[in-house]
Amino acid sequence: MTAPVRRLAAVCALAAALAACGTDQAPRAARPAPAQPSPAPSRPPTLAPGPAGLTPVFSHAPRTRDRTVALTFDADMTAGQGARAAAGERFDHPELIAALRALKVPATVFMTGRWAEEYPVQARTIGRDPLFEVANHSYSHYAFTDDCYGLPTLPEDRMRADVERAYAAFRKAGVPDARPYFRFPGGCYDRRALRAVSGAGVTAVQWDVVSGDAFATDADAVARDVLDGVKPGSVVVMHCTRTAAPATEKAVRVIVPELRRRGYRFVKVSELIGAANGRR
Ligand SMILES: [Zn+2]
Repeated sequence: MTAPVRRLAAVCALAAALAACGTDQAPRAARPAPAQPSPAPSRPPTLAPGPAGLTPVFSHAPRTRDRTVALTFDADMTAGQGARAAAGERFDHPELIAALRALKVPATVFMTGRWAEEYPVQARTIGRDPLFEVANHSYSHYAFTDDCYGLPTLPEDRMRADVERAYAAFRKAGVPDARPYFRFPGGCYDRRALRAVSGAGVTAVQWDVVSGDAFATDADAVARDVLDGVKPGSVVVMHCTRTAAPATEKAVRVIVPELRRRGYRFVKVSELIGAANGRR
């Protein structure tokens, strides 16, 4: 695992609850439908299972001349952090979601089930906005390996149920079609974890660019890390948790125009996975 990945995971663990993304605003009814180069597939693209049926892992699309990049935002909230939310800690970040809307940036939100329970209106408005897609970041934000930055570890026989419990929480919040993509808390996984969640039918989604936004206060430094790291087909990991990632909105306002200037087009993870499958 690279140093940046360690840093990110440490962040996840620490915050154990970075938290979440959302907005208090309902999607505008008049929002024009995004341009679709082709009809959306009836089911989101996924990768084929790996050897022995293991959950496949995706971290970036092929490095083609098609300059696409996916910004992903982890909506962390750990089971047991309800008291902190009640005391005023914000695991959501509505201003960030509003900025993505204002900039018309498609994005994938990896949401924990616990976050959707805490912020059901935001979960629903994100889930119903065609600009975004909601994916799974577990229910509890507990680790799926034994040693993952201090996160409590799920027993193997509860791993699949934790993934499925998050989908149940999304449905209850009113998210209509959460994607079959799963990001392991802390990015920590091993063969056992890939086997344990294989029955859930998900594609595990990692990243190839670490923004370093967790607990960062220097938005320009975050933006620099992203701009230095992005290549065609990249997946960038960021957070939409106001308290634990306070510089992210400002960083996004720097990153987006600069990547567009370089010829990049922002897409959701589903489009990158489709491209990896040879589908457009
Ligand atoms: Zn996380």
